[in-house]
Order: sequence, then structure tokens, then C-alpha cells
Amino acid sequence: NEAKSANHGVRVFEPGMERHVEHGLTLLSDLRRAAEADEFFLLFQPKLRLRDGHCDAAEVLVRWRHPQRGVVPPDRFIPFAEQTGAIKAITRWVLQQSLRQLARWQREGQPELSLNVNVSTRDLMQPDFPAQVERALRQAGVSARHLCLEVTESAIMDDPLLAMDCLQALNRMGVRLAIDDFGTGYSSLAYLKRLPVQELKIDRSFISGLDRDEADVTIVRSTIDMAHHMGLSVVAEGIETEAVGQRLRAFGCDQAQGYLYSRPLPAADFMDWLRQHRD
Ligand code: C2E
Ligand code: CA
Ligand code: CA
Ligand code: CA
Repeated sequence: NEAKSANHGVRVFEPGMERHVEHGLTLLSDLRRAAEADEFFLLFQPKLRLRDGHCDAAEVLVRWRHPQRGVVPPDRFIPFAEQTGAIKAITRWVLQQSLRQLARWQREGQPELSLNVNVSTRDLMQPDFPAQVERALRQAGVSARHLCLEVTESAIMDDPLLAMDCLQALNRMGVRLAIDDFGTGYSSLAYLKRLPVQELKIDRSFISGLDRDEADVTIVRSTIDMAHHMGLSVVAEGIETEAVGQRLRAFGCDQAQGYLYSRPLPAADFMDWLRQHRD
């Protein structure tokens, strides 16, 4: 008993856990430095209209060039950044940089180009997030309709009322909104109906098997029908083969993204891709 209380409630970590925590702390201080040190950079993945292949939008995807670890993909640091709150600084950086880049492209002969930017739960829970977006748009000189923010179902379901306030404020500003990773969460359709969103992105996990899995075909077709009845534009993500792309076009899916068309590209390569693609 004596031995048990000797720690006075301070948790004793297993050696493995200690390493884990230490790793987490290093990662956190690294993350805090990263935004200032310009260690993040952005890639742009084309989003095309399936009907005719026209492209006037791209999704922005962040990467972290860590001085020791090399390029770190977002799945390895975004969830951690969300837990620690560091995501707020990252989102601010991503928004500012994306909109600046977009303004440059619009001036350089792509006036109708727009960008999709990913945001997280933590961003939606910040009361001043809409104001922050408005400021970033104003500073870059980009109109709200050229920005689409992607939000996952689970981010909304974390705190539906708070998320709804935020989404409505963004919607009033004229910012477009997309539900990301659709089908992986558990949002009720009744709720979805009340969200002020314009785009629905069907998760890659339903798309990749579309040429062979009949269950996926059923899910995707009914999702497209439902979304169209609700007036939403449907985007399929993760298209890797011609067969899948053709099926989606036959099902009436509106837009497409995937390695079949292009991987996420650095800014200059995206412009080259776009010019070639339009010729
Ligand atoms: P997401 O928003 O669902 O983004 C799509 C992911 O699928 C990207 O991975 C993209 O590179 C990948 N992808 C695109 N086409 C294909 C394909 O045909 N096949 C396969 N296998 N993959 C494809 P990435 O860039 O590693 O990003 C992973 C996730 O990290 C994103 O998933 C998003 O949730 C998050 N993320 C990325 N950038 C940001 C950001 O700036 N802010 C926030 N909050 N999250 C971000
Ligand atoms: Ca996304
Ligand atoms: Ca997605
Ligand atoms: Ca995803």
C-alpha cells in the first residue's frame, strides 16, 4: 500500500510509453517551429469535371519537410496536430499560402481557378474561424466563391451544433463547403440535409473496387442519387483506373480526382499540367 501511494498519483510510465511521450513532445516542439521555419509545403491535385475532363479546381494537400526525418506525409502529423491544438497554426498557414498562390494563378491567366482546402474539427470549434477565413481571403484578394473548405463527417459530428454555426457563417460569406470522406462516418441523412454544403466527396474506399465489387457499386450509385436529389455536386476521390473513371461517368458522378488523372503536384508542375491538359 505504502509503495502504491509513493507516487502520489503521478503516473509511472512503462519504458515504451516514455519513449512514446518523449517522441510526442519532440514532435510537438518540431511542429510549433515548422510553421515559422517554412518547413511545410503544399501540393495541388487536379479535380476534373467527369463529363468532359475540364479542370478548374485543385485540392491543396500539405507536406512537412522535416530537417531530420525528410518529407512527412499529413497522416503522420495532422492527427497529432489536432490533438495538441497545433492544427490551428497549420490551417492558418495553409489557408494563407493557398490563397496567395491562387491569387497569383488568377492574375496569370486562370481567373476561374478555385481551390479546395482541408480543415479539421478543431478549426470548426474556433468561434473566430470564419473571421480568420474572411481575413485570409481579403488579404490575398480572392473572392469567397473560389474557395471550398473540405470538412469530414466526423468533424461535424464531434459537436454538430457548434460545427453548424461555423458552417453557416462560412456559407453566408459565400465560401463553398464539401463533406469529405463521405461514407466513412455515421452522419444521419436527415442531418446532412440541413448542412449548408455544396459538394460531397465519396471516400476512396468505396471507389477503388468499383470495377469489381457490386456492393461498392450499389453504395456509390445510391450516394450519387441521394446527393443529386439534395442538389449537391458529387466528387469521387482516389480514381486509379480507366475502368473506374468510366463507371463513375456512367453513374452521373460530377467530378473526379485520382492518380489516373494526376498525383498531387507542386505548384509549378500543376500549372504545367493544367496548360497541357487544356490544349
Ligand atoms: P484527404 O483529404 O481524403 O485527401 C486525399 C488523399 O488521397 C491525399 O493523401 C491524396 O494524395 C490521396 N490520393 C489522391 N488520389 C489518390 C489515388 O488515386 N489513390 C490513392 N491511393 N491515393 C490518392 P495525402 O496528401 O497523404 O493526405 C492525407 C490526408 O491528410 C487527407 O485526406 C487529409 O485528411 C489530410 N490533409 C492533407 N492536407 C491537409 C491540410 O492542409 N489540412 C488538414 N487539416 N488536413 C490535411
Ligand atoms: Ca480532402
Ligand atoms: Ca477525402
Ligand atoms: Ca481521407
